[in-house]
Amino acid sequence: MRYCKLCVIPDTRPNIHFNEEGVCSACVLAAQKKQEIDWKAREAEFRSYCDKYRTKDPKQWDCIVPVSGGKDSTYQIHIAKNVYKMNPLAVTFRTDARTPLGEHNIKALREMGVDQIDITPNPVGFNKLRKKTFEEFGDCSLPDHLAIWNIIPQIAVKFGIPLVLWGENPDMEYGGQADLQQVSKLNRDWFRHQHILKGKTAEDWADADLPLSEIKFCVYPDEKDLDALGYTPLFIGYYHPWDADQNVKISEKYGFQRRKKGPIMGLYDYADLDCEHIVIHHYFKWLKFGFNRITDNACNEIRKGRLTREEAVKLVREKDGVKPPKSFIENFCKRIGITVEQFWEVAEKFRNHEVWKKDENGEWYIDGWIGGDKVPDRFPYEEED
Ligand SMILES: [Zn+2]
Repeated sequence: MRYCKLCVIPDTRPNIHFNEEGVCSACVLAAQKKQEIDWKAREAEFRSYCDKYRTKDPKQWDCIVPVSGGKDSTYQIHIAKNVYKMNPLAVTFRTDARTPLGEHNIKALREMGVDQIDITPNPVGFNKLRKKTFEEFGDCSLPDHLAIWNIIPQIAVKFGIPLVLWGENPDMEYGGQADLQQVSKLNRDWFRHQHILKGKTAEDWADADLPLSEIKFCVYPDEKDLDALGYTPLFIGYYHPWDADQNVKISEKYGFQRRKKGPIMGLYDYADLDCEHIVIHHYFKWLKFGFNRITDNACNEIRKGRLTREEAVKLVREKDGVKPPKSFIENFCKRIGITVEQFWEVAEKFRNHEVWKKDENGEWYIDGWIGGDKVPDRFPYEEED
């Protein structure tokens, strides 16, 4: 494994690129962002979109804000409603693994004075899809991403609302594909290139056992309908400097709650708290790529200038790779109809043998892990309430 010289991201991360100096694409962009981006011009462009779509019709909404109950949701509503004086329709996709904290944060967000639609897809079809994505790609969250990225354009067409205000552009924040980092819109081109979808659409997943009609909310609407609407799905994070830490402080004023017991598997007590699946999803990065949420979060802290690389290395060595709570795994297994033993059999299939080796005692370790020594995979479960 090769690590970025400035942060602690390894070259096993999908879509990351290292330049000749050994610096990753996310660090290069973070440095550029501080200097080169004309934020005033971008904010002016954002304002012009809001002005274009703000309506005087009391029966209509000005924009859709996709929300989950996570760290960015309340902040997105704050930007839309309080900063740009828009009348947003909040739209959530109800995963069958939404946490009580996620539910609380959605309620708090509604109480800012917005309408909300909670979309709950057919659980039979959805869990069939989830079983497939888990067994085929070791990914339990793929259906959730496929759903939210397709539900929003569907609702836009059905309700006749062209403007959508998404939160961050993950390629920009975490260092994805270079050509996707400077993308201002979350359209189909953008999400089809996301590693998380494995290049597959709902139509690709459908078969005799899983008819498309059982996963309707995962289907992208007709392009003609979107063009006729003037569909405009913007990333707020492209137009405004994005810092989750600052955003959360604003969200808390509106009742957003952090996780009282502390971070579930990264550094932030405000992240990964709205859905059980996302925690399992992150854990699989540990098996596939040899890093997990502490690495992701520590890299972000380095780029924001709040952590040194040395401190980050220490954190990664001490804490990265913690397993998801047992209850999350048990719930997940129940949903897709497998046993916990089968879960770990699947997990083992996705352990990347380029990254993981066995020592003389038959214990797994990451070869060339950051900091030098061989470190075995022996982190305990953390129990959720
Ligand atoms: Zn880096």
